[in-house]
Amino acid sequence: MIFDSHCHWDFDDFTPDRSMILDHCLKKEVLALCIPGTTQARWHSIIHLTESTHSIVCYCALGLHPYFIDEHHPDHLDTLEQHLVQRPEHLIAVGEIGLDFYLGHLDRDQQESLFRAQVKIAQAHKLPIILHARKSHDQILKILRELHFQECGIVHAWSGSEQQANRFIAMGFKLGFGGAITYPRATKLRHLATTLPLTCLVLETDAPDMAPAAFKGQRNSPEYLPLILDELCQLRPESAEIIARQTTQNTMDVLRIQSSKMP
Ligand code: ZN
Repeated sequence: MIFDSHCHWDFDDFTPDRSMILDHCLKKEVLALCIPGTTQARWHSIIHLTESTHSIVCYCALGLHPYFIDEHHPDHLDTLEQHLVQRPEHLIAVGEIGLDFYLGHLDRDQQESLFRAQVKIAQAHKLPIILHARKSHDQILKILRELHFQECGIVHAWSGSEQQANRFIAMGFKLGFGGAITYPRATKLRHLATTLPLTCLVLETDAPDMAPAAFKGQRNSPEYLPLILDELCQLRPESAEIIARQTTQNTMDVLRIQSSKMP
């Protein structure tokens, strides 16, 4: 089986054919996924989806995504705390949180204070975090060190350097690899996916975004996760079976999911 560690399964893009996609996931052995939070407005539907999906196992993270900085308000942090106190069974991390310095229009100071506040919340509740990092890896590392954050997590859609990768790995983080590695021009990323220890990698689709090359320009879907596995097999010496097993185990380890809670 394989685990989609990052899929925006709550997005409206999937409303027309969610059950059909789940059938395809089952056939392709995509048996677990984790839905990261984006805005407070979506948290309820995310929790509802995790509770009402039974054919595969759905976990979630709740958090305020830097991309939607203008939609967040300070009281959303209080609501986040309340959810974490109640802790529905499938809520396993704080995310998707982070810093996006790639998109110039997002205010950096605002992003940083929101990020710090959410890291502190994760720390207080002893939960891992799911990170969004674009052109901001060093700054995120600096903040995590300053706050003495020790709960680890996943840096989703890895796009940093080898040196930055090693720093996150030394802190216990796993790195998410998805559709981007299927594009031949992504040479640096493909090199990293080839050379990093398998124990540090997790698979993700980031659906509906980041479609693999075979579906370029189309809606991405968790049912395409085997394409990421295939690509890693082409790049790495290990067999598909070993990569599938190890990346699933890595995801379970970092998100602290017990084997008894898996298919
Ligand atoms: Zn995402």
